[in-house]
Amino acid sequence: MRKTEISELDEKIVAALERLSHVLRTLLWEEAVESRLSPIQIQSLIYLSSHDEKLCRVNQLAQEFGLTPATMSDAISSLEAKGLLAREPHPDDRRAQTLRLTAKGRRSGAKLSRWSDPLKEQLRQFPLEERERALVFLLKLIESLYRAGIISVARICLTCRFFRPNAHRDSRAPHHCALMDKPLAERDLRVDCPEHELVA
Ligand code: SF4
Repeated sequence: MRKTEISELDEKIVAALERLSHVLRTLLWEEAVESRLSPIQIQSLIYLSSHDEKLCRVNQLAQEFGLTPATMSDAISSLEAKGLLAREPHPDDRRAQTLRLTAKGRRSGAKLSRWSDPLKEQLRQFPLEERERALVFLLKLIESLYRAGIISVARICLTCRFFRPNAHRDSRAPHHCALMDKPLAERDLRVDCPEHELVA
């Protein structure tokens, strides 16, 4: 393939990713209008309902969503005022605070986590192998963006010290997680693993 063709291909991939990012923003905005919360408040509630409390500090969320701690703190204060979360002492650091959802916040988080259902319904129409290939491609892209310093959080298998790629060649589950001591098929690769530890 000629150099110009490769560059055109890359431009098309970027344009396609931009279209998809627009779809995600639109779905999130629709949910925001319905729930009377801002998109970042929705994402915070969903994040807090699915992560260990050690990862639930204001600074952690700011890093996760690429925001300044001050902007993140404003969003958290609004959620606190609505009775959806509370600040508590962090289990590992008495000077820090962890964010914990209230019962009302947990109910909201569970409801809001369905914001991406329309996209998942479309994905289900594609063959499993095609979706697996898409997952691997996207994870490699995330790894590359992380290593280039463009994103600051990537709790994926590909950046994890426990990941052993192609440890079981010729198997349907070719990779291995040394922490869980079990083989991983490509569909098992994680996008946001709570046990992830960054490879040196
Ligand atoms: S600990 Fe999690 S991120 Fe690391 S290899 Fe195992 S499953 Fe993947």
